[in-house]
Amino acid sequence: MKPVYLDNNATTQIDPAVLEAMMPFLTELYGNPSSMHRFGGQVGQHLVKAREQVAASLGARPDEILFTACGTESDNTAIWSALNSQPDKKHIITTRVEHPAVLNLVQHLEKRGYEATYLGVNAKGQLDLDELRDAIRKDTALVSIMYANNETGVVFPMDEIAAIVKERGVQMHTDAVQVVGKLPIDVSSLPVDYLALSGHKLHAPKGIGALYVRKGTPFRPFMRGGHQERGRRAGTENAASIVALGKACELATVNMEEERTRVKALRDRLEAGLLAAVPDSLVNGDITSRLPNTSSIAFKYVEGEAILLLMDGHGICASSGSACTSGSLEPSHVLRAMGVPFTYAHGSIRFSLSRFNTDADVDLVLREVPPIINRLREISPFREGMEPKGEKPACGC
Ligand SMILES: *Cc1c(COP(=O)(O)O)cnc(C)c1O
Repeated sequence: MKPVYLDNNATTQIDPAVLEAMMPFLTELYGNPSSMHRFGGQVGQHLVKAREQVAASLGARPDEILFTACGTESDNTAIWSALNSQPDKKHIITTRVEHPAVLNLVQHLEKRGYEATYLGVNAKGQLDLDELRDAIRKDTALVSIMYANNETGVVFPMDEIAAIVKERGVQMHTDAVQVVGKLPIDVSSLPVDYLALSGHKLHAPKGIGALYVRKGTPFRPFMRGGHQERGRRAGTENAASIVALGKACELATVNMEEERTRVKALRDRLEAGLLAAVPDSLVNGDITSRLPNTSSIAFKYVEGEAILLLMDGHGICASSGSACTSGSLEPSHVLRAMGVPFTYAHGSIRFSLSRFNTDADVDLVLREVPPIINRLREISPFREGMEPKGEKPACGC
């Protein structure tokens, strides 16, 4: 039985057309693009094309695109660049719901002499833009706010956010890893200085990312060494993966409409079906401003990890809303920031779809998941409120 993969916000399947595009660079086209002979030159031309493809998908210029190793490196590069180019400014603004790629770096910076403001979110996972306005100071070096949340799919009003920040003359970075390929982005009208994306979230392989850096933004490299990427990111280019990312960005633009129609319709049917079949369940996050592929559903009185294990037994792969990396079963920082009650946060499951999902996948979820929840509720000793347990079950993340 082919598993039903509904964990696309964690990573995605490589599109077969992307694999085909990158294969020659893993076989005969192995030259180093910096070399002065034909092996290098051949590869170099394809990197030029890939940069144009990535730029086109964002409304950027090719020389505004840097290739990196992942979304995490793109976020780290943007944040360090903003700080190192303005050494007299020691204040950073971010949110409580960022991905660890931003959150853990900002927490680290706090130990190294920087001050941070973490903007809160309301019960729907949305920011209060007045809180942002009030947080900006004379010594604010950077505002780093994600475009859409990986756990809930909630989309922040980035046009408005970036306008507020730029009006005050502060540098703006957005982690758009979950948005590229799902919603249109046009940096010619979105006034951010930096924007991060990651290949493996849009059907390219793992280990390739990109950072948009607006022309004119003072830039300080994160990786120093050779002169690759015009001295902005040292290290021999990952040619195969760069070509793959170019192709994936081109396909993302082509398939955007399907994401917003067919994939969204699948997500909506899955969500409505589960809410109707399972009492005491609800959707986490602002459903009026959400990625088309994501649904975070809270099932009261059950443990997310138990749901995941039983679903996996039926060939259904999703993820939970608990912070399994912390070694405890604390609900995720995102759901906690939203104030989702403990009994709901604990039983939260994130379903995230892609264009490779089908109606049959949703049928299977709607057939198998409600009985799983009912079974777990029958044996749940926690009907009046669950306490975290010491032991940490495997949750695959
Ligand atoms: C996955 C993800 C990242 C990290 O990207 P990697 O390529 O895995 O390093 C950063 N931000 C968000 C919102 C993500 O979903």
